[in-house]
Amino acid sequence: MTDAVHDLINPWTDVVEAGRKYQAVDHDPLLVTLRTMIRSNTGGTTPGATRDADRSIMNLEALTTWERITGDVRTLTRRHTKDRPNPLLGYAIRTLAGTLDALWASHQITEPDYLHAIRRGKAWRAMIWGLLHKPREKELTEPCPYCEQAKAVTATGEIQAALVAYYQQGVTPTAQCRACGTMWVGEGQLVILGEMIGATLDTDTLHEMGVNV
Ligand SMILES: [Zn+2]
Repeated sequence: MTDAVHDLINPWTDVVEAGRKYQAVDHDPLLVTLRTMIRSNTGGTTPGATRDADRSIMNLEALTTWERITGDVRTLTRRHTKDRPNPLLGYAIRTLAGTLDALWASHQITEPDYLHAIRRGKAWRAMIWGLLHKPREKELTEPCPYCEQAKAVTATGEIQAALVAYYQQGVTPTAQCRACGTMWVGEGQLVILGEMIGATLDTDTLHEMGVNV
């Protein structure tokens, strides 16, 4: 259980590709990141990265996630220990995991109960991870270089920008024209699209889309 919740309550490290090198990057505990998301009203450091509406939805989702984890931790703590859950969520998780591991070591918790708790711990991590690595889309205001449409009409009659870029960490970035269906897949093609439509696909925007130029 302690392993399952490690990244929630301890700083953790991952290795990222930076140009042609690999670099270790240190991260805050995921619970700290989640709490920062809830409190954040200023969004990311990239200008124009998120609209106000997106930010408030993100904050609400982060708060809901926090509350779900808190509820789960309380339920498990009450079910398996005599302790009152610590009001500080990080401490409550650390205490719960330590107690369950000790109960398991001394055969005082059944295997299904112990495995269930570990699955919950992994689910808490996955919930926060999912919030941090949401697929995002960015509408581009320029007309499509092929069909020259700047707008596209959805099945429900809504008018949208024709060009839209989709990106998600660790996934190949793509862009699509919703008017003619042309797709650009991968960094190289997105850079070409950027050159075709001109100025607004600038370096910052490309970085934001996960394209290293
Ligand atoms: Zn098009």
